[in-house]
Amino acid sequence: METNTMFLQDADILLHLSYQPRHILDAVISVDESAKLSSTTVHRDSSLGRLDTLPLEVLHESLAYLDLQSLRYLSRVSLRGKAVVESLKEYGKIARVAAYTFKILTQAKILDLHSISTLCVALCSNRCLSCGEYGAFLILLSAERCCFACLIDNQSLWMISLPLARHSFDLTKEQVKALPVMWSIPGRYGDVFHQRSMAFSTVKAAKELALMVHRLPNISATTYLSTLPANLFEWYRQAPLDLLSQDPLTTTDEAIRPFDKFSGMGAMPFPSLVSGSTEAEHGLWCRGCEVTYHDSAIEKMDNSTLSELIPVGYHVDHIDRFLFRMKYRAWSKADFLQHAKHCYSATKVISQERTGSP
Ligand SMILES: [Zn+2]
Ligand SMILES: [Zn+2]
Repeated sequence: METNTMFLQDADILLHLSYQPRHILDAVISVDESAKLSSTTVHRDSSLGRLDTLPLEVLHESLAYLDLQSLRYLSRVSLRGKAVVESLKEYGKIARVAAYTFKILTQAKILDLHSISTLCVALCSNRCLSCGEYGAFLILLSAERCCFACLIDNQSLWMISLPLARHSFDLTKEQVKALPVMWSIPGRYGDVFHQRSMAFSTVKAAKELALMVHRLPNISATTYLSTLPANLFEWYRQAPLDLLSQDPLTTTDEAIRPFDKFSGMGAMPFPSLVSGSTEAEHGLWCRGCEVTYHDSAIEKMDNSTLSELIPVGYHVDHIDRFLFRMKYRAWSKADFLQHAKHCYSATKVISQERTGSP
């Protein structure tokens, strides 16, 4: 490490070292974090009919597992319906920290896919389903969290068109109807502008369906591919379905990755509100890691400093790749404060930010 960060205050670390990189957030579905829920037009009738005979706790318990589309209908039936929906604690949490979720799921035409309870489970966790690190994004079709590196590298999280799903996994037109399907939201994703809305599912869902239909065991790998697949279909078929044993920052196989033309179109930023916390987190990325990579700081490091930076067993020849991928990593607040203690360029960045020097 360049200088000691042990004496830095947490406030300094959070204010000067963390940031939200636009180039990462612009690569997924854009959200309006200031969005508030619009007031619903309701009818004058303020009864829920036979549902009114149920105790409120029972009503809440049942509504939490109802899909969001049905919940929306209920909230439009009457003032009482609207009040009951809005009094759901799960609804209140999502409305408070991620109100845009309802609009995005409506645009993707999947409001009937998840319950408020499912969304709340994702909100109250913060780990990537693929690697177990902090997951700053939500995959819309599965309502599961993921990190940016896995979104790019793990093909099981990629979107796939239905014709491609059929051909890759030998499924019939009838069989693919069982897949969860969303419509893409037109707009810019990274450098690519998508004008048309398209229907697609996920590679993971298509592979799981194929394993069930063809009665095959899951023999997917728990590390990333390291050799070139024969073709795109083979690449999809080798999608890992389970939690990976490999940190996505340690992959060295970028050259073998096919082009993901739907990249980022199935995921959006999603805050986390873990148990015991009242404050939602959005993931913190590290300016220090950005500087370490761009300053070619690696060339000035001695062997012992290098060995502190790279994971055990990782080949030093690939350190440049590793540092590049560190820029993708988001952290929870607690993990970020720990990371800052070991981040090579943290002190340099914080002192520059404090003084405003370049
Ligand atoms: Zn991940
Ligand atoms: Zn760092």
